[in-house]
Amino acid sequence: MTPEIRFFQLEPTRDRTRIWPVFLPFQGCPNRCLYCAQDAQTGTPAESLGQSFDRLQAGFRQAHRDGKTPCELGFYGGTFTSLPRAWTGKFLGLAARYRRLGLITRIRCSTRPDRLDREGLSALKEEGLDLVELGVQSFSDRVLTLSRRSYGREEAERGCRIVRESGLDLGIQLLPGLPGQGPRTWLRDIDRVIKLQPALVRIYPCLVVKGTGLEKQWQKGDYVPWSLEQTVAVVSRGVFRLWRAGIPVTRIGLPPEPGLVRNLAAGPWHPALGSLVKSRILLARLLFQALALGPGAKEVICPRRSQGELFGHQGRHRARLARAGIRPGAVSFWDQDHFVIRKKTRTAKKTDV
Ligand code: SF4
Repeated sequence: MTPEIRFFQLEPTRDRTRIWPVFLPFQGCPNRCLYCAQDAQTGTPAESLGQSFDRLQAGFRQAHRDGKTPCELGFYGGTFTSLPRAWTGKFLGLAARYRRLGLITRIRCSTRPDRLDREGLSALKEEGLDLVELGVQSFSDRVLTLSRRSYGREEAERGCRIVRESGLDLGIQLLPGLPGQGPRTWLRDIDRVIKLQPALVRIYPCLVVKGTGLEKQWQKGDYVPWSLEQTVAVVSRGVFRLWRAGIPVTRIGLPPEPGLVRNLAAGPWHPALGSLVKSRILLARLLFQALALGPGAKEVICPRRSQGELFGHQGRHRARLARAGIRPGAVSFWDQDHFVIRKKTRTAKKTDV
């Protein structure tokens, strides 16, 4: 019998419930971080909390009319745990009302790891908060200092721990490619994340956005962003480690918000970065398995959900796969979750699926 290898892509299943984002640009932030342009990134101008509250009410009513509920509600773009208590109570009170009506399934917020305490988190949990996404960005003291984050590794880890100890789900946001960060520090960040066992991770490779301190450094030649090619290669190694540890990665790269695209000065932005990363991981796994089977042509059966990633964005992995004996004509697709790869024999027919 022809030897065959079966393997999974390893991506943990994740909750795909839609999140209705409420952007609160810079609200509660103690300073402007070197790279940050929340208004451009989110397409939401800096505004008062009252205006944000009104926008939430109007936007959510419309979302409901458009059939976009039930969904999750996420407070993003600022430092939610630093807002005045009266305002967090008002936002969460409204969210709780929507939850009672069955329109919301979960409530999350983003914040910084140095703006948390147990008492405050417990109060927010009482008011309905379920998940805290911590904008850790890196666990390297040097990278954090150069990025004007005003906390260090220990405080970042402590922040992650107290979110979990408060009974809230923990999300971690990372920003690979910050000043002072190379591939090795980034992979060390990943190892620390794995030890902290968050419920999810988001990865936003560092971009140079107009009007930020980072843009000034880039103009002077003091900061060089990672290239897109390097970002895909390095981030895919980190994502694979997270997957192997069972940690879902719910976002890779900023979405193509028109304000961001208009204000982007430099950096590894791509509208389908997540897909580039996933297909790079798949390429590495296929090449490894093909090598184990030895030289010659191969047959592959691929899960239908990985079809778009098999040959890479615009078929850019075709040549490398062909050199390993994997050609499009010998690939079939099925609805199962695992891949099969085996040596092609003359008499073998394509598997009927
Ligand atoms: S990165 Fe986060 S903490 Fe820093 S300015 Fe932006 S929103 Fe505020």
